[in-house]
Amino acid sequence: MEFTLFLEDPKMNPTRAKKLSATLISLILCGVGMNAWGDESVAHYMANEALMVVHGNTKVMFDPIYKNSYSNYMLLPQEMEDALFAGDPPYDGLDAIFISHYHGDHFTPEDVLRFMNARPDVDMYAPSQAVVALRTIATAADQNIFDRVKSVDLEYKDAPISLVVENLEIEALRIPHSGWPTGRLDVANIVWRVTLDEATTVIHLGDADANDIHFSTDPEFWSSKQPDIAFPPYWFYSSNDGLNILSSKIGAQQSVGIHVPTAMSNDASLRPAELRDVDLFTVPGETRPISSH
Ligand SMILES: [Zn+2]
Repeated sequence: MEFTLFLEDPKMNPTRAKKLSATLISLILCGVGMNAWGDESVAHYMANEALMVVHGNTKVMFDPIYKNSYSNYMLLPQEMEDALFAGDPPYDGLDAIFISHYHGDHFTPEDVLRFMNARPDVDMYAPSQAVVALRTIATAADQNIFDRVKSVDLEYKDAPISLVVENLEIEALRIPHSGWPTGRLDVANIVWRVTLDEATTVIHLGDADANDIHFSTDPEFWSSKQPDIAFPPYWFYSSNDGLNILSSKIGAQQSVGIHVPTAMSNDASLRPAELRDVDLFTVPGETRPISSH
């Protein structure tokens, strides 16, 4: 396993300092029973597998910037994308974006480069395949963004990696893209398990293949933490393996399916039987409360 981590940004900028002091105040208030921000967290859906998770002042996003719908998946509404690039609420104060894999319905290098220039306080965590794509198109003027880009290089069956950056505990594991064992084997799909403020843990599965074999090699990893919420691609609900992974491996209290094709009805009664009674994100801007345990 080769794991490259670029952490060249120990300098704390004013926004970070402000957020840190707000977090400290929040912790102090928690300690005396006056919980100003509470333990409430929220998942804000964007489109396809793009979503934001918020706990207090801490905000992270998964797969937010991509331009290819493959005529099958939702793109971000233009208004939402404009607000994201401008840092308008609710997308202000964003700490980090996480990229699952380098496919056009999850990551578009040109637009991510533009985003990283537009939002100089945001860090990015991504598989090295995506970072290489960024470096390939970056000009001399773009080089400063790479101080905020953290690249993970994981092979299938490598041990998960973990790191703590400020108020985020970040764990990454490579799980093959759906299509395994015959297709898309070259695509590094990263499952991100992220804990915000030591309070709320979420897991985003990217386009993980729902085969139990991938989730059986690291029992310690799965038992070490139960996420408050999981975001699996919707096909996890369509197989026994997928359901079993969600309940016995990932162990999240709550899950919301993502990557739902536009052809799938918003009316649950019109969906395939196995998708009628599960929670799916289908409408940009919809939210779910996350209760921490
Ligand atoms: Zn994909």
